[in-house]
Amino acid sequence: MKKKLSLTTKILLGLFLGFIFGLILKQVPNGFIKNTILLDGVLKVLGNGFTSAIKMMVVPLVFVSLVCGTSSMGDVKRLGRIGGKTMIFYLGTTAIAVIVSLVLGSTLKPGVGLDMSSVVSGEVAIGESKSVVDIILDIIPSNPIASLANGEMLQVIFFAMLLGVAMSILGKKADPVRVVFESANEICMKMVNIIMLFAPYGVFALVSNTFATVGTDAIFALLKYVSIVLLGLLIHVTIVYGGMFKLFTKQKIKPFISKFSRVAAITFSTASSNASVPASLEIMEELGVNKSVRSFTIPMGATINMDGTAIMQGIAALFIAQIYNIDLGINDMITIVLTATLASIGTAGVPGVGMIMLSMVLQSVGLPLEGIGLIMGVERIIDMFRTTVNVMGDNICTLIIANSEKELELNKYNC
Ligand code: ASP
Repeated sequence: MKKKLSLTTKILLGLFLGFIFGLILKQVPNGFIKNTILLDGVLKVLGNGFTSAIKMMVVPLVFVSLVCGTSSMGDVKRLGRIGGKTMIFYLGTTAIAVIVSLVLGSTLKPGVGLDMSSVVSGEVAIGESKSVVDIILDIIPSNPIASLANGEMLQVIFFAMLLGVAMSILGKKADPVRVVFESANEICMKMVNIIMLFAPYGVFALVSNTFATVGTDAIFALLKYVSIVLLGLLIHVTIVYGGMFKLFTKQKIKPFISKFSRVAAITFSTASSNASVPASLEIMEELGVNKSVRSFTIPMGATINMDGTAIMQGIAALFIAQIYNIDLGINDMITIVLTATLASIGTAGVPGVGMIMLSMVLQSVGLPLEGIGLIMGVERIIDMFRTTVNVMGDNICTLIIANSEKELELNKYNC
């Protein structure tokens, strides 16, 4: 009898085959078949089509599930408690992430010995980074419909939570609207399930496109920097996440890891936390996390929790300081921890924004922004990894908080 492959296995297979195919394609000389038919044709349609389909679901899903989640919390005190725990977890782990990165960056010194002239510096296109006050003020939308239309996630979250809280206070009077939202939520989740059936093909196309165009040359040029960032990410995942999970839940991590690989394939191929929200919600449901917790912590995390990005920023800041021979003191280090932690709140969960926010971190300690040009070449590859860590943090936090609120069904988790 033929054994049916699970969706997760198929997605991982897509990822692996995409990687191999991309590397092979890189060796093929440019031409009609390679560029027009494959890269800008079939692979683009499959890859971008899949990304657009998941992006299409992000705003409706976050909005609807957050309204359902907050309005079903029962009492506002509980929402406040869960919200408080979530914020402490998200900001705390991000601060730890920056500290880990600074320790690694100062001991392993990625920038020392690098001959700058041998590195091709790319065009530096640095966007405007926001001030902390602007980041805070930007959370309150003046026009919620515009926020929905523009996908301003923090504003959508703010509006949805206020709506949910109001419904929760009104109790029975809000029931008709609650029924509509509950049903809309079910429908959105079903749409996600349908889109996810195409994930193996989408992931294959996205990954092969990346490796056929970026290739591995860029990695070799800045190998030391890349390896130290990857080491930082690994330490954060195994020691910080692994340790906290064990400490707070006392559960085995394996059931989570095997389901998370499905989410990781999405984050790896899209480099977008936002795009991973549907998949994260799906696996959290499968793992037995109650809706009232997951529908709050997952969208919130995808928007504000960026531990992987913070690790990249800490190491990149030291790398740039070392390349330009600038000594950073302890005060500078503390400033980096604070700005990188706050920057992570303002970093949108889409590809490349962490790099833009890096300019805010560099500016805070007076480092030259031109340094960003040096690490641009390896940006996309690091983005794939750091986004995966960003999203893993959201999932781990969700499990820990659900467990502490007795909202994690252990028999579902362990099966
Ligand atoms: N791509 C990252 C994310 O979506 C953000 C970044 O670091 O650029 O989480």
